[in-house]
Amino acid sequence: MAKKKITTVEDKKEITSAEEALKAIKSGDRLFEVPKKFRTIEVCLAAVKKNGYMLKYVPEKLKTAELCLAAVLKNGGALESIPEKLKTSEFCLKAVKKNGYALRSVPEELKTAELCLMAVSIIQEDGLALEYVPEKLKTIELCFTAVKWLYDDNELYGHIEKEIYGYIPKKLVAEVRKMLDSYINVKELERSKVKKTVLKEPVAKKPSVKKPSVKKPEAKTTIVKKPTTKKENTAYVCTECGYIYITAEGDPAYGMKPGINMADKNCPQCDSNDWDY
Ligand SMILES: [Zn+2]
Repeated sequence: MAKKKITTVEDKKEITSAEEALKAIKSGDRLFEVPKKFRTIEVCLAAVKKNGYMLKYVPEKLKTAELCLAAVLKNGGALESIPEKLKTSEFCLKAVKKNGYALRSVPEELKTAELCLMAVSIIQEDGLALEYVPEKLKTIELCFTAVKWLYDDNELYGHIEKEIYGYIPKKLVAEVRKMLDSYINVKELERSKVKKTVLKEPVAKKPSVKKPSVKKPEAKTTIVKKPTTKKENTAYVCTECGYIYITAEGDPAYGMKPGINMADKNCPQCDSNDWDY
């Protein structure tokens, strides 16, 4: 990582062959900066293996099952760029196992109770994937699983809790709260047995949530920061989850207009504020 070089817009002009493109991808992952004619299967495969979200910039005709699988195994969220005909249950399962939030890109007919339950319980934050669970599959158990982590992780951040409850059918909310209360009571009891002197552990707030803008240490990577006049050409890649925001394009999937200065914003996908740009 120490020798990582970020390909800049200026460098892009220098890519005049597929070999150079491959070299650029081997030292970075910014496929969107490789001229389209040099996005060969080899270049694209190397890019998605580094960052699954680069699948978005792979020419449609090169999106083979193998290439898409490599992307999804790297980042489940890459499911959003997979051609519909390749979205089999097996594929969707692999994606959701990596990232519960990938449920948003699963075709409705493939959203089974099992897949949805997995989506909300794989990683704690994935409880938010409840948003993409079909209403008829929102059972008490599934909704409870989605909110349970709020306590499991000992990180009760109000805004996320509120958001998750917003996706629970109104008629189930009271019941889910009751289940959570008894769950918390049992956990507290277990805890007080282990730590007799401490009744309740302090609530640790997850640092990535509402994290202030932290500039990446210069030593970590060679970041070429472009002047604000070139903002329209800027691309931001989240170093936490690989999410890509291209300033000129915006990201309608997350309701974001073009031209946003992401340096001051958190990643819409993982809430991190560590960008490569
Ligand atoms: Zn992210």
